[in-house]
Amino acid sequence: MEKHLEALKNAVTRPLWHDPDIMPEPLAPVSSDKKCELLIVGGGFTGLWAAMQAKERQPDADIILIEQTFIGDGASGRCGGFLSTTLTHGETNTAYRFADEAERLEALGIQNMKELLETLERYDIDARYEKTGEMYVALDPESAKRLQEDYQDAIDDGEDVVWFDKDTVRGQINSPMVFAGLWDRGGQDGVIDPARLCWGLKEVLVEQLGVQVFEATRLLGVEPLGKEAMQATCEGGVIRADKVLMATNAFTSTIGKIRRSVIPVWDYQIATEPLTDEQLDRIGWGKTSRHALADHVNMFHYFRLTKDNRITWGGGGAVRYYFNKGIDEKFMHAPACYEQLAREFFEMFPQLDDVKFSHQWGGIIATSTRFCMVPGVAHDGRLAWSVGYTGHGVGASRYGARIGIELLGYAPTDVIKMKFVTSKSLPWAPEPFRWLGVRFTQNALQKADRNGGKRGLWLKFLDMLGLGFTC
Ligand SMILES: Cc1cc2nc3c(=O)[nH]c(=O)nc-3n(C[C@H](O)[C@H](O)[C@H](O)COP(=O)(O)OP(=O)(O)OC[C@H]3O[C@@H](n4cnc5c(N)ncnc54)[C@H](O)[C@@H]3O)c2cc1C
Repeated sequence: MEKHLEALKNAVTRPLWHDPDIMPEPLAPVSSDKKCELLIVGGGFTGLWAAMQAKERQPDADIILIEQTFIGDGASGRCGGFLSTTLTHGETNTAYRFADEAERLEALGIQNMKELLETLERYDIDARYEKTGEMYVALDPESAKRLQEDYQDAIDDGEDVVWFDKDTVRGQINSPMVFAGLWDRGGQDGVIDPARLCWGLKEVLVEQLGVQVFEATRLLGVEPLGKEAMQATCEGGVIRADKVLMATNAFTSTIGKIRRSVIPVWDYQIATEPLTDEQLDRIGWGKTSRHALADHVNMFHYFRLTKDNRITWGGGGAVRYYFNKGIDEKFMHAPACYEQLAREFFEMFPQLDDVKFSHQWGGIIATSTRFCMVPGVAHDGRLAWSVGYTGHGVGASRYGARIGIELLGYAPTDVIKMKFVTSKSLPWAPEPFRWLGVRFTQNALQKADRNGGKRGLWLKFLDMLGLGFTC
């Protein structure tokens, strides 16, 4: 059997973060009709942070949060746990789409991160946060040149960045694939254990802040009830709420505007068993440096260490959009993607040939055409949503939650007047154009990665339409 298949042989199909030893008891589902002031649908970061911030702004707010399975079962409890300051999927996307508001968005991102970390501290939530910064590594000399240009731009902008050339980068992470590294060590970017964050927030909301949380409760539909309220029909009962926040991200929505704003893109990860000291010595990572890493290509891998020195490894070519399928549970498990990830892992770290993988899993990324959050509001300010963070939602979802509750009238500020909030996101085209478009784009991005980043005609055409994507 090939080495990468052998290494995967005993991997369990479950997110590494969903450790049964620490998973909290499920809360009861809705089993009768209810009333509340604010109903939040979705128990991921957006829903949880929305409840938290609504309570901070109005402590007597009467809030119900419902989740169709369990808290942290969506992208939030399955992601890579890279916590970044950006609200817009990175500086390139900001410059491309929101240049007028770039400075303000950067400041808001820093404020969001600060408040997020303060909340963890205030409530003693142990999300295993580790301040690592973010490090991009170049996989060929061409990409190293482009990365060095980024470094120079960052220096010119006064950012706290460190450049590693081919010789020095391998002292940080010893891989034959790596040609250079750019480490952004300013700010508070780092890594967390995402399920611990979800469950920590859940505990505080329920036990300290009096939010009613119901799990195993699926929303079937929501509609206005006269001019004053909304009516949400759930499995188990009807909830009458003054206001509703949809925090359902990639999941199929009964609300057309949400449905057209996001497509579900599946992303897969694998995790190793804890590495021994001697194995860490072989890769020079984990002892002298604990970078959170991504390779500097469009279809990038993201990889990091956990507290117990496992490596989680995801992304790359193991990202899928399935034709006209919406959300289907069967795509959560994709053996071919795990195998591809394992093969690529050993290309990056050939010296770890005795390492085994303990976990393999998938999750759904809500991808919008602007590659960052899409907020919205309807029914005279009684229904709002924040969805579509694409690959950068761990930090940004707290800000998406803030926008969502402000749109519903919880101590609104002028941020909801920014173009970032009021401008429309282009809807996704219907099938089969959607599938063809995604397919073409993925292929074009992979080709650009092979050609030292040179964008072909299709990517230039998308750039012209305002639909371009770069790392
Ligand atoms: C594999 C993977 C890796 C990622 N890695 C990173 C990373 O390292 N860093 C980063 O910044 N971002 C990352 N992301 C993106 C990030 O995880 C998401 O943007 C973020 O978690 C979105 O949070 P959310 O609460 O909006 O959505 P979710 O966590 O998806 O929550 C939505 C919830 O709504 C519930 N729901 C849906 N429909 C209904 C209904 N009808 N009734 C009741 N409940 C419903 C779902 O069950 C789900 O729990 C990753 C995503 C994936 C999938």
